[in-house]
Amino acid sequence: MAGPYERTRRFLARVTDDPDGAAARMAGVEVDIVAARLTPAVEIAIALTATLLLRLDEAAPRLHLDVPATRTTRLPRLGDGNLVEEVATEHAGFVSVDRLVTGRSADPALRLVFDGEDDGVFVATAGWACAFGERLPDIAGNPIAAVFAGTIASAEALKVALVAAGGATARSRPWRGAVSLWDYALAPNVGMSIPEVVDLDGVVFVGCGGVASAIAWPLALLTLRGAPLAVDDDTIDDTNPNRHLTASLRDVGEGKAELLAALLRSAGAAPVVQPVRWEAVDPGRRSAVELGVVSVDEDAARRAFQLDMPRLALNGGTSDTGFYQVTSHDFLTEACLGCIARADLHTGGPDESLARLLGIPLAELRPHLGSGAPLPDELLGRVAAENREQLRGVPGSDVARAACGRLRPLPDEPAVSAPMLSAAPGVLLAAELVKRRMGAEAPLSPRTNMVATSILTGPHERWGRRIRKRTDCTCQDPAYRAHYRSRWQEGAAQRAS
Ligand SMILES: [Zn+2]
Repeated sequence: MAGPYERTRRFLARVTDDPDGAAARMAGVEVDIVAARLTPAVEIAIALTATLLLRLDEAAPRLHLDVPATRTTRLPRLGDGNLVEEVATEHAGFVSVDRLVTGRSADPALRLVFDGEDDGVFVATAGWACAFGERLPDIAGNPIAAVFAGTIASAEALKVALVAAGGATARSRPWRGAVSLWDYALAPNVGMSIPEVVDLDGVVFVGCGGVASAIAWPLALLTLRGAPLAVDDDTIDDTNPNRHLTASLRDVGEGKAELLAALLRSAGAAPVVQPVRWEAVDPGRRSAVELGVVSVDEDAARRAFQLDMPRLALNGGTSDTGFYQVTSHDFLTEACLGCIARADLHTGGPDESLARLLGIPLAELRPHLGSGAPLPDELLGRVAAENREQLRGVPGSDVARAACGRLRPLPDEPAVSAPMLSAAPGVLLAAELVKRRMGAEAPLSPRTNMVATSILTGPHERWGRRIRKRTDCTCQDPAYRAHYRSRWQEGAAQRAS
């Protein structure tokens, strides 16, 4: 039978050779989560770390929580009682809850230290910065950085469990360091304070699935106002709660748009729920989107949304092997959403087909296809395990031939996912959304319009990059460009005058 482990199992099958054996071994790995005192940032990071690890379900490590009983902040979907009990209640029905205990392990594979001087790996936040294995200046972390710290901590615990279970060694490496969600530097840049109230008027959530749920969770920690639109025609099935932070098993059958709206409502917003596909939304609404947050699965829907000409589109997605990305598009500068959402073209060219087969973005694969050197280990490590050995040592120029007919095509099956894989781009989208609403000089600017990495490696020096326009895209067409300008730039100039 399906259930909350089904899609995570598919992810484990991408990164290990024996997912069921790996899961059984991961369930025996002990992870400590400790804090000498709770602050809001510490409590948020701990709650999300535990949530994402519990949602691994059958593959979840055994979690030992040693944290003070007195709470300091409101948390999405959780009551105000003891943190361990509240987290357990939210995850009723997950088999992993049986392995959630209070206290400490005598011999943990990983001890996550969120506050205090214990031995272990320190998880810290300061302003927009988070750090893993490093101390930061004594400045309170904001809620979004705290959520990202929890995402990183859960991904590091996943890696420790995977390695202990004998999987994912080729493509996974521990991450240690500091990173700022303010400017994506690998430095503890704290950035500007989040305002007391964040206004969501003019914001549209196109798709309210797993990634979007991880936008709503950190937003629900802020004080919100305004009437954002939540658009999704789908309902929660019993496989979704592995990553849907807006839902647990008791929400099976509920609408995804309403569940996302409920979280935003709890923080003061007045969302408008549209339980339909984006194409079915009233054209007047569709053509007045100030800031669209797109996390749908289909590239065709992304392209259609871009042609509705939002002032700004933020876009997030994940791959089957742990890769995630967030992109930003204003239509005029660098790649538009249409430029990057061209899965329909993949069947047209052999390189695209190959890239899709390997699960590696074409832009990353292409430079190696003319080379006499084998694919770098980093790329090879991201190829599905069952195909990797076929390509080891094969010169880049021969990869297409070696792959032809010999690699196992990815079957058409339900989406592969994992709790922390969906959460990572969601939190980054929340960060982008809030920074735009602050009117801060946009750190993820048109010049750096993509942030991308893998949960199995973590942020790195070049995780922020620039994606240029395609020469054959409508965003090069003067008529379309004039249309965008007349809607947003001239309109803004008139409003300002
Ligand atoms: Zn374009």
